[in-house]
Parts: sequence; C-alpha cells; structure tokens
Amino acid sequence: MEEQSQRILIIVIAVLVALSSLAVVLFFLLRAYRKNNRVINEDEDMHGALAQYNCPKCSQQMKKGFALAGRGIIYQPEEHARISSFVTIMSVLENTMSMSLPPAVNRAWHCDTCKYLILDHSTLIRQKKK
Ligand SMILES: [Zn+2]
Repeated sequence: MEEQSQRILIIVIAVLVALSSLAVVLFFLLRAYRKNNRVINEDEDMHGALAQYNCPKCSQQMKKGFALAGRGIIYQPEEHARISSFVTIMSVLENTMSMSLPPAVNRAWHCDTCKYLILDHSTLIRQKKK
C-alpha cells in the first residue's frame, strides 16, 4: 500500500515538472512572439495605403492588397547556411506571424503576370470589416 502511494506521488511530481517545463517554454515563445510583432489598424496604414510599386521584373504597376504569411516567413540571405527543418518562432521575420483571430496581415503588392510579391513586414495590419 505504501509502495503504491509512493508510485502515485512520483507520477504526480513528474506530471507537475512536465507541466511547469511546458509553461516556461510557452512563456518564452509568447514573449518572443509579442516582441516581434507590431500591429496597427488598416486606417492607420497611411504609407501602405498610398504606396504603389512597379514589378521589378516586367515594370508593370503591381496590384495592392494584403497577404497572410500564416506561421511566419523564414528568410536567410543566400550567403548564410541553408534553412533547416528545425526552424523556431525565433527565426521568423518580425511582423509576419499572427496568432489573432481574424489574423492580422501584411500589406503586399502582387504582379499577376510574373507571380512576384512585394511584402511589407514593417508592421502587421488588422483589416477593417467590410
Ligand atoms: Zn511582373
């Protein structure tokens, strides 16, 4: 009987240690996410609303819109090591990942012909309801 209660105690302690480890990991992930994200309302996006860009390939005017990067964009200059399968929230470009509902998006310009996309990740934008 005493042996069984010792086993239960060990299991309870193991579960508590696992849960507190998980809480610490979640705390740091959330902190990194918050530090890397700046969100403004669509009405405040004065620069993005006025900006027009021409496609760097065909020089046609690009269509202005929004893009959802989903779980964030990983980018590395080509002189760096290749992007590995083990990327974390820490390697995501700032302002490219949104955990809000509906998700915040990035201002983007797209060329339908060349399939080129210019994405502004200086801020995330909370779109207004239409
Ligand atoms: Zn083009």
